[in-house]
Amino acid sequence: MEKHAVLYLVVPCYNEEEVLPETARQLLSKMESMLARELISQKSKILFVNDGSRDKTWEIIERLHTENPIYTGVKLSRNKGHQNALLAGLMTAKERADIAISLDADLQDDVNVIDKMVEQYYQGFDVVYGVRSARKTDTFFKKFTAQGFYKLMKAMGVDIVYNHADYRLMSRRAMEGLEEFQEVNLFLRGIVPLIGYASTTVSYERHERFAGESKYPLKKMLSFATDGITSFSIKPIRMITVFGFFIFVVSLIMLVYSLVVHSMGHTVWGWTSTIVSIWAIGGLQLLAIGVVGEYIGKIYLETKNRPKYIIEKVLEE
Ligand code: UDP
Ligand code: MG
Repeated sequence: MEKHAVLYLVVPCYNEEEVLPETARQLLSKMESMLARELISQKSKILFVNDGSRDKTWEIIERLHTENPIYTGVKLSRNKGHQNALLAGLMTAKERADIAISLDADLQDDVNVIDKMVEQYYQGFDVVYGVRSARKTDTFFKKFTAQGFYKLMKAMGVDIVYNHADYRLMSRRAMEGLEEFQEVNLFLRGIVPLIGYASTTVSYERHERFAGESKYPLKKMLSFATDGITSFSIKPIRMITVFGFFIFVVSLIMLVYSLVVHSMGHTVWGWTSTIVSIWAIGGLQLLAIGVVGEYIGKIYLETKNRPKYIIEKVLEE
């Protein structure tokens, strides 16, 4: 494989004015050390994707760009969420770079493994997943929910890399593969393994958020997890079917039982069980409808084929 690949670091940013100057500084020194080692091409860039921030994020990106053209930026027309911002960045990088590495703006992904990822690319890997080795700095709650998330995904039959977030290297052809996926409900961690090609992992320690606060509150995490499962697996529907069948068998047994009791002449004592079963069945039906509705909602969104993002501006030299 040819050396001196053009590398783009793709960094989605949503209201990150507090961390951005420091992130820019650290990424620059990383790029400079790789350039000095002639690991990457001089045309490499640090690409910030402004995901409709309401603070000074875009102004900072523009200022960085005028100070040093190694910094460049894409501005989305409004906030579209982390996954869409990432895709916008990768699709922009695909036109200009041989490889792209996506990482968070808050310096939680250890920038020191960037070299390792690039070296793995030169070894012939098209996708290199950054995998967290430790979560020492995460709160108990974050650790518990995040690991529960990976286990749940696996149990639901979604093929994802354990403890891998969106810190990864992708080659140009892997990004071209990604472009073929037309889905609107984006869950990149689930899609990337489906692209195929040779892949490997490098492990890193997850740091604490450098400044500012998480843009992923519990509500967003839950909707991310539901999206992840319902976009990739029909297991929930199967489970409902199996459960429904089981309940049906139980109700047959109950029928036989109640007929036997009736023939023996013990009647009116049925009120409790009747009420209980009405509630149970009602609840089950609602649950089942909800799950089906989740998928219909997805179909609805997919058929609309809406654009996932609109780029307002790209900084060019
Ligand atoms: N982010 C984004 N759009 C959003 C929310 C987040 O581009 O709507 C970016 C954010 O700026 C950061 C990355 O996604 O670079 C991860 O977000 P965050 O660090 O808040 O998530 P956490 O690490 O807490 O899961
Ligand atoms: Mg973070």
